[in-house]
Amino acid sequence: MKIGILSRNPKLYSTRRLVEAAEARGHEVHVIDTLRCYMNITSMKPEVHYKGENLTGFDAVIPRIGASVTFYGTAVLRQFEMMGVYPLNESVAISRSRDKLRALQLLSRKGIGLPVTGFAHRPDDVDDLIKMVGGAPLVIKLLEGTQGIGVVLAETKGAAESVIEAFMGLQANILVQEFIKEAGGADIRCFVVGGKVVASMKRQGKEGEFRSNLHRGGSANLIRITPEERSTAVRAAQTMGLNVCGVDLLRSNHGPVVMEVNSSPGLGGIEAATGKDVAGLIIDFIEKNSKSGNTKTRGQG
Ligand code: ADP
Repeated sequence: MKIGILSRNPKLYSTRRLVEAAEARGHEVHVIDTLRCYMNITSMKPEVHYKGENLTGFDAVIPRIGASVTFYGTAVLRQFEMMGVYPLNESVAISRSRDKLRALQLLSRKGIGLPVTGFAHRPDDVDDLIKMVGGAPLVIKLLEGTQGIGVVLAETKGAAESVIEAFMGLQANILVQEFIKEAGGADIRCFVVGGKVVASMKRQGKEGEFRSNLHRGGSANLIRITPEERSTAVRAAQTMGLNVCGVDLLRSNHGPVVMEVNSSPGLGGIEAATGKDVAGLIIDFIEKNSKSGNTKTRGQG
């Protein structure tokens, strides 16, 4: 097969591993810098050009689209979909999961476990907003944050009010959430490929830190997940319509709750923690499923 990897950087661990796994299986692989693609959207003749060349003959593309380039990245991917190229994850599913509010609304509609969550832009009654999610302590998040930046723990009602007011002053959309104290600064990353959890790890924040992000000094370990956690992760992936994703869960008193569904999950942490060849499993999935036009939306989204 001829496989394209949409990635800004061929040197990233995840990109290198996917290239390696695909080449080991005899495929031709091209790493394509998403932002350097340009597109012809003339009626009925979609094309993607790159370095002066018309990209043709691809059987599948693997989108590795960073949060900061979601808009242009999903447009390039949609163009490939319109050309009938099989996308590992569809552009519509990526957009769905990148919009945190939309993702939470879709997950809640399916009855998937979530922390009690409120969202607001300029709430006219901060007191009621805080009451609505069960009072302090609570977690306040900037909607546009990634890697734990813009995630604040407010221990008291007074602190919660000040943080909410400060974020309101920034004209930001915010998410106000029940603090899952019993998670003990740890979360569980379930790596889903084709409707199955193929690897999972526990990430523990460094001492005194409630955020478990590896970028913030957290550490990762192999973990055995429960059947309920497994089915929560699989249902979350299905709800987003993602073939490959990382579902982040917290262990709460009321069962597993989903924090986030990541459509371009990194391979470094999970392969190191579990010793599994996750890149190989992704390529296997593509081999089984990459028929031309085998998507839910055919680029219509
Ligand atoms: P980001 O998308 O920026 O990583 P998250 O919403 O995933 O932000 O939050 C970062 C980390 O903070 C999570 O991985 C989790 O460890 C911790 N965290 C987030 N929300 C809560 C919460 N409601 N209760 C307890 N811990 C939380």
